[in-house]
Amino acid sequence: MKKVSNIAVLTSGGDAPGMNAAVRAVVRTGIYHQLNVYGVMYGYRGMLKNEIFPLESKSVANIIQRGGTILKTARCKEFYEAEGRAKAYENLKKHNIDGIVVIGGDGSFNGAYKMSQEFDIPCIGLPGTIDKDIAGSDFTIGFDTAVNTAVDAIDKIRDTADAHDRLFVIEVMGRDAGYIALHSGISTGAEHIMTPEHLIDVKDIIEDLQTNERRKKLVNIIVVAEGSIAGGAEEVARMVKTSCPQLDTRVTILGHIQRGGSPTCQDRILASRMGYAAVDALLNGTSNVMVGIVNNKIQYTPLEQAIKAKEHLDPEWLKMVKILAS
Ligand code: ATP
Repeated sequence: MKKVSNIAVLTSGGDAPGMNAAVRAVVRTGIYHQLNVYGVMYGYRGMLKNEIFPLESKSVANIIQRGGTILKTARCKEFYEAEGRAKAYENLKKHNIDGIVVIGGDGSFNGAYKMSQEFDIPCIGLPGTIDKDIAGSDFTIGFDTAVNTAVDAIDKIRDTADAHDRLFVIEVMGRDAGYIALHSGISTGAEHIMTPEHLIDVKDIIEDLQTNERRKKLVNIIVVAEGSIAGGAEEVARMVKTSCPQLDTRVTILGHIQRGGSPTCQDRILASRMGYAAVDALLNGTSNVMVGIVNNKIQYTPLEQAIKAKEHLDPEWLKMVKILAS
Protein backbone atom coordinates (compact mmCIF):
# COMPACT_ATOMS: atom_id res chain seq x y z
CA MET A 1 0.00 0.00 0.00
CA LYS A 2 1.40 3.39 -1.05
CA LYS A 3 1.47 5.87 1.79
CA VAL A 4 -0.07 9.28 1.08
CA SER A 5 1.76 12.38 2.30
CA ASN A 6 0.36 15.32 0.34
CA ILE A 7 -3.33 15.58 -0.31
CA ALA A 8 -5.45 18.17 -2.10
CA VAL A 9 -9.06 19.17 -1.57
CA LEU A 10 -11.35 20.96 -4.03
CA THR A 11 -15.00 21.91 -4.44
CA SER A 12 -16.45 21.45 -7.92
CA GLY A 13 -19.72 21.90 -9.83
CA GLY A 14 -22.65 23.64 -8.16
CA ASP A 15 -22.03 24.96 -4.65
CA ALA A 16 -23.90 23.57 -1.67
CA PRO A 17 -24.11 24.79 1.94
CA GLY A 18 -21.83 22.65 4.08
CA MET A 19 -18.98 22.47 1.57
CA ASN A 20 -16.89 24.66 3.88
CA ALA A 21 -17.53 22.32 6.80
CA ALA A 22 -16.30 19.43 4.63
CA VAL A 23 -13.16 21.34 3.56
CA ARG A 24 -12.44 22.14 7.21
CA ALA A 25 -12.79 18.48 8.20
CA VAL A 26 -10.47 17.29 5.42
CA VAL A 27 -7.83 19.91 6.27
CA ARG A 28 -7.85 19.37 10.02
CA THR A 29 -7.96 15.56 9.81
CA GLY A 30 -5.13 15.59 7.28
CA ILE A 31 -3.00 17.84 9.49
CA TYR A 32 -3.75 15.67 12.52
CA HIS A 33 -2.27 12.73 10.58
CA GLN A 34 0.76 14.86 9.64
CA LEU A 35 -0.19 15.16 5.99
CA ASN A 36 0.43 18.28 3.95
CA VAL A 37 -2.95 19.53 2.76
CA TYR A 38 -3.41 21.70 -0.32
CA GLY A 39 -6.46 23.62 -1.48
CA VAL A 40 -7.31 23.81 -5.18
CA MET A 41 -9.19 26.95 -6.15
CA TYR A 42 -12.18 26.88 -8.55
CA GLY A 43 -12.44 23.07 -8.86
CA TYR A 44 -10.80 21.42 -11.88
CA ARG A 45 -10.21 24.82 -13.48
CA GLY A 46 -7.77 25.65 -10.67
CA MET A 47 -6.08 22.28 -11.13
CA LEU A 48 -5.46 23.14 -14.77
CA LYS A 49 -4.24 26.63 -13.93
CA ASN A 50 -2.10 25.44 -11.02
CA GLU A 51 -4.09 27.47 -8.49
CA ILE A 52 -3.01 25.14 -5.73
CA PHE A 53 -1.74 26.32 -2.35
CA PRO A 54 -0.99 24.87 1.07
CA LEU A 55 -3.65 25.08 3.77
CA GLU A 56 -3.06 25.30 7.49
CA SER A 57 -5.38 24.61 10.37
CA LYS A 58 -6.11 28.32 10.70
CA SER A 59 -6.92 28.63 6.98
CA VAL A 60 -10.20 26.89 7.77
CA ALA A 61 -11.00 28.68 11.03
CA ASN A 62 -14.43 30.26 11.33
CA ILE A 63 -15.87 28.69 8.17
CA ILE A 64 -17.99 25.78 9.46
CA GLN A 65 -21.04 28.06 9.64
CA ARG A 66 -20.55 29.76 6.27
CA GLY A 67 -22.42 28.93 3.06
CA GLY A 68 -20.68 28.94 -0.33
CA THR A 69 -17.13 27.63 -0.49
CA ILE A 70 -13.87 29.36 0.46
CA LEU A 71 -12.16 27.33 -2.28
CA LYS A 72 -14.65 28.70 -4.85
CA THR A 73 -16.14 26.41 -7.43
CA ALA A 74 -16.44 26.29 -11.20
CA ARG A 75 -17.25 24.14 -14.17
CA CYS A 76 -14.31 23.34 -16.45
CA LYS A 77 -14.74 22.27 -20.08
CA GLU A 78 -11.09 21.29 -20.58
CA PHE A 79 -11.34 18.62 -17.90
CA TYR A 80 -13.74 16.63 -20.10
CA GLU A 81 -10.75 16.00 -22.41
CA ALA A 82 -7.88 13.60 -21.63
CA GLU A 83 -5.43 16.36 -22.54
CA GLY A 84 -6.92 18.68 -19.93
CA ARG A 85 -6.79 16.01 -17.24
CA ALA A 86 -3.13 15.30 -18.10
CA LYS A 87 -2.34 18.99 -17.62
CA ALA A 88 -4.15 18.96 -14.28
CA TYR A 89 -2.25 15.86 -13.17
CA GLU A 90 1.09 17.50 -14.09
CA ASN A 91 0.21 20.40 -11.82
CA LEU A 92 -0.68 18.04 -8.97
CA LYS A 93 2.70 16.36 -9.40
CA LYS A 94 4.48 19.74 -9.14
CA HIS A 95 3.23 19.80 -5.53
CA ASN A 96 3.86 16.04 -5.01
CA ILE A 97 0.15 15.58 -4.40
CA ASP A 98 -0.63 11.88 -4.04
CA GLY A 99 -4.30 11.89 -3.07
CA ILE A 100 -7.31 14.12 -3.77
CA VAL A 101 -10.67 14.75 -2.17
CA VAL A 102 -13.32 16.11 -4.53
CA ILE A 103 -16.44 17.66 -3.00
CA GLY A 104 -19.11 17.92 -5.69
CA GLY A 105 -21.86 16.21 -7.63
CA ASP A 106 -21.94 13.32 -10.09
CA GLY A 107 -20.21 15.32 -12.84
CA SER A 108 -17.29 16.04 -10.54
CA PHE A 109 -17.09 12.35 -9.61
CA ASN A 110 -17.04 11.45 -13.30
CA GLY A 111 -14.00 13.69 -13.75
CA ALA A 112 -12.29 12.24 -10.66
CA TYR A 113 -13.00 8.69 -11.80
CA LYS A 114 -11.48 9.33 -15.23
CA MET A 115 -8.38 10.93 -13.77
CA SER A 116 -7.85 8.05 -11.34
CA GLN A 117 -8.10 5.57 -14.24
CA GLU A 118 -5.61 7.48 -16.36
CA PHE A 119 -3.09 8.30 -13.65
CA ASP A 120 -1.89 6.71 -10.46
CA ILE A 121 -3.71 9.02 -8.07
CA PRO A 122 -6.32 7.97 -5.52
CA CYS A 123 -9.48 10.10 -5.56
CA ILE A 124 -12.15 10.24 -2.88
CA GLY A 125 -15.52 11.88 -3.59
CA LEU A 126 -17.77 13.63 -1.09
CA PRO A 127 -21.37 14.17 -2.25
CA GLY A 128 -21.81 17.95 -2.17
CA THR A 129 -25.05 18.80 -3.91
CA ILE A 130 -28.38 20.24 -2.83
CA ASP A 131 -30.17 17.88 -5.24
CA LYS A 132 -29.57 14.60 -3.30
CA ASP A 133 -29.35 12.82 -6.66
CA ILE A 134 -26.43 10.51 -5.83
CA ALA A 135 -26.69 6.87 -4.84
CA GLY A 136 -24.71 5.55 -1.87
CA SER A 137 -25.71 8.08 0.76
CA ASP A 138 -28.99 8.78 2.51
CA PHE A 139 -28.23 12.50 2.35
CA THR A 140 -25.86 14.77 0.47
CA ILE A 141 -24.08 17.84 1.81
CA GLY A 142 -26.34 20.87 1.30
CA PHE A 143 -29.64 19.09 0.84
CA ASP A 144 -30.95 19.65 4.36
CA THR A 145 -30.10 23.35 4.28
CA ALA A 146 -31.69 23.83 0.85
CA VAL A 147 -34.87 22.07 1.97
CA ASN A 148 -35.09 24.13 5.14
CA THR A 149 -34.65 27.32 3.12
CA ALA A 150 -37.47 26.19 0.83
CA VAL A 151 -39.68 25.28 3.80
CA ASP A 152 -39.13 28.67 5.40
CA ALA A 153 -40.05 30.43 2.13
CA ILE A 154 -43.11 28.26 1.45
CA ASP A 155 -44.42 28.79 5.01
CA LYS A 156 -44.23 32.54 4.39
CA ILE A 157 -45.98 32.20 1.06
CA ARG A 158 -48.75 30.18 2.70
CA ASP A 159 -49.39 33.05 5.13
CA THR A 160 -50.08 35.46 2.30
CA ALA A 161 -51.91 32.81 0.24
CA ASP A 162 -54.20 32.23 3.20
CA ALA A 163 -54.85 35.95 3.72
CA HIS A 164 -55.96 36.42 0.11
CA ASP A 165 -57.45 32.98 -0.65
CA ARG A 166 -54.86 32.42 -3.34
CA LEU A 167 -53.37 29.46 -5.13
CA PHE A 168 -49.57 29.49 -5.34
CA VAL A 169 -47.45 27.47 -7.73
CA ILE A 170 -43.96 27.37 -6.25
CA GLU A 171 -40.93 26.16 -8.14
CA VAL A 172 -38.02 24.65 -6.26
CA MET A 173 -34.59 23.48 -7.46
CA GLY A 174 -33.36 19.90 -7.91
CA ARG A 175 -32.69 19.61 -11.66
CA ASP A 176 -33.77 16.06 -12.59
CA ALA A 177 -34.42 15.07 -8.97
CA GLY A 178 -37.58 15.70 -6.96
CA TYR A 179 -36.21 15.43 -3.42
CA ILE A 180 -36.26 19.13 -2.57
CA ALA A 181 -39.83 19.33 -3.88
CA LEU A 182 -40.92 16.21 -2.03
CA HIS A 183 -39.37 17.06 1.34
CA SER A 184 -40.30 20.75 1.30
CA GLY A 185 -43.79 19.98 -0.02
CA ILE A 186 -44.58 17.39 2.64
CA SER A 187 -43.28 19.55 5.46
CA THR A 188 -45.32 22.58 4.38
CA GLY A 189 -48.51 20.64 3.80
CA ALA A 190 -48.52 21.27 0.04
CA GLU A 191 -51.69 20.12 -1.69
CA HIS A 192 -49.72 18.89 -4.72
CA ILE A 193 -46.10 18.04 -5.42
CA MET A 194 -44.71 17.56 -8.91
CA THR A 195 -41.48 15.58 -9.28
CA PRO A 196 -39.61 14.43 -12.38
CA GLU A 197 -39.50 10.84 -11.07
CA HIS A 198 -43.27 10.37 -10.90
CA LEU A 199 -44.92 12.62 -13.41
CA ILE A 200 -48.41 13.84 -12.55
CA ASP A 201 -50.74 15.10 -15.24
CA VAL A 202 -51.57 18.76 -14.58
CA LYS A 203 -55.14 17.90 -15.66
CA ASP A 204 -55.48 15.73 -12.52
CA ILE A 205 -54.26 18.61 -10.37
CA ILE A 206 -56.79 20.92 -12.04
CA GLU A 207 -59.60 18.45 -11.37
CA ASP A 208 -58.59 18.33 -7.73
CA LEU A 209 -58.45 22.15 -7.52
CA GLN A 210 -61.99 22.30 -8.91
CA THR A 211 -63.15 19.79 -6.30
CA ASN A 212 -61.46 21.88 -3.61
CA GLU A 213 -63.18 25.01 -4.92
CA ARG A 214 -66.59 23.33 -4.69
CA ARG A 215 -65.93 22.64 -1.04
CA LYS A 216 -64.73 26.24 -0.54
CA LYS A 217 -61.06 25.39 -0.20
CA LEU A 218 -59.36 28.17 -2.16
CA VAL A 219 -55.89 28.17 -0.63
CA ASN A 220 -53.69 25.65 -2.37
CA ILE A 221 -49.94 25.22 -2.68
CA ILE A 222 -48.47 23.31 -5.61
CA VAL A 223 -44.74 22.62 -5.26
CA VAL A 224 -43.07 21.98 -8.61
CA ALA A 225 -39.58 20.52 -8.98
CA GLU A 226 -37.85 22.45 -11.76
CA GLY A 227 -37.28 19.34 -13.89
CA SER A 228 -40.80 17.95 -13.71
CA ILE A 229 -42.40 19.89 -16.56
CA ALA A 230 -41.06 21.96 -19.46
CA GLY A 231 -41.65 25.59 -18.54
CA GLY A 232 -41.73 24.80 -14.81
CA ALA A 233 -44.10 26.57 -12.43
CA GLU A 234 -45.00 29.22 -15.03
CA GLU A 235 -46.36 26.55 -17.33
CA VAL A 236 -48.34 24.86 -14.55
CA ALA A 237 -49.86 28.23 -13.59
CA ARG A 238 -50.71 28.97 -17.22
CA MET A 239 -52.60 25.69 -17.52
CA VAL A 240 -54.41 26.24 -14.21
CA LYS A 241 -55.37 29.80 -15.16
CA THR A 242 -56.78 28.58 -18.48
CA SER A 243 -58.99 25.95 -16.84
CA CYS A 244 -59.79 27.81 -13.61
CA PRO A 245 -59.77 31.56 -14.43
CA GLN A 246 -61.78 32.23 -11.26
CA LEU A 247 -58.89 31.10 -9.03
CA ASP A 248 -56.40 33.78 -7.98
CA THR A 249 -53.23 32.01 -9.12
CA ARG A 250 -49.69 33.27 -8.47
CA VAL A 251 -46.22 31.92 -9.19
CA THR A 252 -43.07 32.06 -7.06
CA ILE A 253 -39.74 30.68 -8.24
CA LEU A 254 -37.51 30.26 -5.21
CA GLY A 255 -34.28 30.14 -7.24
CA HIS A 256 -30.78 30.60 -5.87
CA ILE A 257 -31.70 31.37 -2.27
CA GLN A 258 -31.85 27.58 -1.99
CA ARG A 259 -28.10 27.34 -2.64
CA GLY A 260 -26.96 29.87 -0.07
CA GLY A 261 -27.09 30.45 3.65
CA SER A 262 -25.56 29.03 6.76
CA PRO A 263 -25.63 25.21 6.72
CA THR A 264 -27.99 23.46 9.13
CA CYS A 265 -26.68 21.41 12.03
CA GLN A 266 -27.38 18.25 10.05
CA ASP A 267 -25.34 19.43 7.06
CA ARG A 268 -22.44 20.53 9.27
CA ILE A 269 -22.32 17.14 10.98
CA LEU A 270 -22.72 15.23 7.70
CA ALA A 271 -19.92 17.26 6.09
CA SER A 272 -17.63 16.89 9.11
CA ARG A 273 -18.10 13.12 9.28
CA MET A 274 -17.62 12.71 5.54
CA GLY A 275 -14.49 14.89 5.42
CA TYR A 276 -12.98 12.97 8.34
CA ALA A 277 -13.80 9.64 6.67
CA ALA A 278 -12.33 10.78 3.33
CA VAL A 279 -8.88 11.26 4.88
CA ASP A 280 -9.23 7.94 6.67
CA ALA A 281 -9.93 6.28 3.33
CA LEU A 282 -6.82 7.79 1.73
CA LEU A 283 -4.67 6.71 4.69
CA ASN A 284 -6.06 3.18 4.44
CA GLY A 285 -5.16 2.96 0.75
CA THR A 286 -8.79 3.10 -0.38
CA SER A 287 -9.21 4.74 -3.72
CA ASN A 288 -11.91 5.85 -6.13
CA VAL A 289 -14.79 5.70 -3.73
CA MET A 290 -17.44 8.12 -2.61
CA VAL A 291 -17.96 8.56 1.11
CA GLY A 292 -21.62 8.24 2.03
CA ILE A 293 -23.64 7.82 5.17
CA VAL A 294 -26.26 5.07 5.10
CA ASN A 295 -28.36 4.28 8.18
CA ASN A 296 -26.09 6.66 10.11
CA LYS A 297 -22.95 4.66 9.24
CA ILE A 298 -20.11 5.63 6.94
CA GLN A 299 -20.24 3.66 3.71
CA TYR A 300 -17.84 3.71 0.77
CA THR A 301 -19.30 3.29 -2.72
CA PRO A 302 -17.13 2.90 -5.84
CA LEU A 303 -17.21 6.21 -7.74
CA GLU A 304 -18.49 4.63 -10.94
CA GLN A 305 -21.43 3.12 -9.05
CA ALA A 306 -22.29 6.42 -7.36
CA ILE A 307 -22.29 8.10 -10.78
CA LYS A 308 -24.44 5.54 -12.56
CA ALA A 309 -27.04 4.63 -9.96
CA LYS A 310 -29.77 7.08 -9.06
CA GLU A 311 -31.46 7.47 -5.73
CA HIS A 312 -34.92 5.94 -5.64
CA LEU A 313 -37.78 8.28 -4.79
CA ASP A 314 -40.40 6.25 -2.92
CA PRO A 315 -43.84 6.59 -4.63
CA GLU A 316 -45.49 5.79 -1.28
CA TRP A 317 -44.50 9.29 -0.14
CA LEU A 318 -46.54 10.83 -2.94
CA LYS A 319 -49.53 8.71 -2.02
CA MET A 320 -49.14 10.02 1.52
CA VAL A 321 -49.12 13.63 0.26
CA LYS A 322 -52.53 13.11 -1.31
CA ILE A 323 -54.00 11.62 1.85
CA LEU A 324 -52.54 14.20 4.22
CA ALA A 325 -53.60 17.15 2.08
CA SER A 326 -57.19 16.01 1.61
P1 ATP B 1 -23.89 19.68 -9.47
O1 ATP B 1 -24.62 18.37 -9.35
O2 ATP B 1 -24.08 20.51 -8.27
O3 ATP B 1 -24.11 20.43 -10.75
P2 ATP B 1 -21.60 18.44 -10.59
O4 ATP B 1 -20.33 18.00 -9.99
O5 ATP B 1 -22.49 17.37 -11.15
O6 ATP B 1 -22.34 19.32 -9.49
P3 ATP B 1 -20.88 19.29 -13.26
O7 ATP B 1 -20.90 20.64 -13.89
O8 ATP B 1 -21.64 18.21 -13.90
O9 ATP B 1 -21.31 19.51 -11.74
O10 ATP B 1 -19.34 18.81 -13.16
C1 ATP B 1 -18.34 19.65 -12.59
C2 ATP B 1 -17.09 19.54 -13.42
O11 ATP B 1 -16.60 18.18 -13.39
C3 ATP B 1 -17.25 19.86 -14.89
O12 ATP B 1 -17.21 21.24 -15.18
C4 ATP B 1 -16.05 19.13 -15.48
O13 ATP B 1 -14.87 19.88 -15.31
C5 ATP B 1 -15.99 17.87 -14.62
N1 ATP B 1 -16.72 16.78 -15.30
C6 ATP B 1 -18.07 16.57 -15.31
N2 ATP B 1 -18.40 15.50 -16.05
C7 ATP B 1 -17.23 15.00 -16.52
C8 ATP B 1 -16.89 13.89 -17.38
N3 ATP B 1 -17.82 13.09 -17.89
N4 ATP B 1 -15.59 13.71 -17.66
C9 ATP B 1 -14.63 14.51 -17.16
N5 ATP B 1 -14.88 15.56 -16.37
C10 ATP B 1 -16.16 15.82 -16.05
